[in-house]
Order: sequence, then C-alpha cells, then structure tokens
Amino acid sequence: MRVDVVSIFPDYLAPLELSLIGKARQDGLLELNVHDLRDFTSDRHRTVDDTPYGGGAGMVMKPEPWAQALAAVAADRPSGAAKPVLIVPSPAGERFSQAAAQELAGEERLVFACGRYEGIDERVMEWAAEHFTVRPMSLGDYVLNGGEVAVLAMVEAIGRLLPGVVGNPESLVEESHSDGLLEYPVYTKPSSWRDREVPAVLLSGNHGKIAQWRRHEQYRRTDERRPDLLEHFDAAKLPRADRTAFADLGYDIVDGHLKRRADSGGDSA
Ligand code: SAM
Repeated sequence: MRVDVVSIFPDYLAPLELSLIGKARQDGLLELNVHDLRDFTSDRHRTVDDTPYGGGAGMVMKPEPWAQALAAVAADRPSGAAKPVLIVPSPAGERFSQAAAQELAGEERLVFACGRYEGIDERVMEWAAEHFTVRPMSLGDYVLNGGEVAVLAMVEAIGRLLPGVVGNPESLVEESHSDGLLEYPVYTKPSSWRDREVPAVLLSGNHGKIAQWRRHEQYRRTDERRPDLLEHFDAAKLPRADRTAFADLGYDIVDGHLKRRADSGGDSA
C-alpha cells in the first residue's frame, strides 16, 4: 500500500517511523510519503490560511495550495490505476471504525489531507472528487486541533491489517471490534500478583472451557461498557450456553437480535 499525507506539520507524522508501522515501511509493505503543504504555496510568507467568508472566528485553509499539493500527489500514479482514496479528517466526517479500517486496508493508495484552523475551503473537496474518491472521516465526537493525530490513528489501524505487518495474524481476529464485541480481559505471569489471582479457568488447560469463558467475558464486558454494540450483534446461531449467558445479563433473543428485558434495569451484576 502507498500512503501520502499532506500537512503543514510534517514532523507530526514522525511516529510513523517507529514500531510496527516503521518496520512495515522498512520491509516495503507500506510506502509512506509526507508532504509539506507550504511547499505548494506561491507567496513569500508561504500562506495557507485566510479569513472566513461570512465572518466568524478563526481562519480557513486556502484552496489553491491544497489543489496544487493534491494534484501533484494525484499525478504521481500509473495510467489506468484506480483513483486513490482521499481521506479528509474532520469531526464532521463519517465515523472511522474497525470496519472502515478493514475496508481501507484493501486499497492500493490512500491520501490524507490534514486540516488545521477551522478546516479546508469546502471547494477543495468538490474539486478533489475529479481525482480521488473523497471520504471525510472523523476519529470520534470531539474536536482536535488538526488532522495529524487522526492520521496517526487511522494509518496505524489500517497499516496493522496489511498482510505481514503483525507477526501473528490470529491476534487480529480476536481483538476488540473485529467481531462486533469488546475483547475479553487478558492476563500474564505471575498467576498470583499482589493478592490478585488469574481466573482459575485460564490455568485449567481446558481449551473448550477457556474459549467459552472468554466469549462470556466478551459479552459481559460489552454489555457493561458498550451496550450499543450489542444492538447489532447477530445472536441467531449462539450455542445454548451463550444464550444462557445473555439471559443472565438481562437479554432476550428475539428474531436473532438481543433485546434487553424491560425488568433487567440495565443491571448486569
Ligand atoms: N471547525 C471544524 C468543525 O467544527 O467541524 C473543526 C476544525 S478542527 C479545530 C481542525 C482540524 O482538526 C480539522 O480540519 C480536522 O482535520 C481535524 N480534526 C478535528 N477533530 C477531528 C476529529 N474528531 N476527527 C478527525 N479530524 C479531526
């Protein structure tokens, strides 16, 4: 996969030289180029922002440096290749998720446009649609100072799904959000630590029981921390023991979907 990032703070992306993503770059699994938006300005002060039409607080990123930068990135592709995906980090974008990371990991080229100030002149997104598949994407329902932190998170989430980046691909399968649930709690040695014991089942060597305990812990934790995720969980083919686990948590299974019982009061204890 090739990734291009355009930013007025290229140094912000330096952590992508470290750890698994840095190694993926060294191993040729991921090509990552960072471009300084100011290199695409034409005035002495390398200006990238101006006051907003209609008034109001803050500054808006000027369209022309963005068009120059993105045109340069778009031009650098073999003829006949598919349009790259242009991800525009924005709190007003579609929510980035594990499913989105999975989908984007299948793309050959991703380009990220890091906004600052009040964001990028909207016409850039309209213009860019001629050269890219444009996707404004939000990391979550809060406001950051710029797109760079969002890009760090997205590139890490996408990059670790590329074949060969994570040593044991099985570890990707069991993680939170990979199956619509949160992951079960994990423990390591020593089995007894500061008067706290590892759950006995994990020391039992009984792989069937361990797998069941882990599934039930996923249900319990997801119900406790993110019950919204259970609304979309497919409960149609659950084994009997798992149905019982959900019944104990206060759920009925109706047409394959989990429905919290009115009398359960949200108390999963
Ligand atoms: N005025 C914008 C709004 O209310 O939608 C917020 C601008 S924010 C201060 C500056 C930049 O930070 C945005 O252009 C975007 O690149 C980035 N940003 C802020 N919050 C973000 C979020 N939740 N997800 C992704 N990017 C975000």
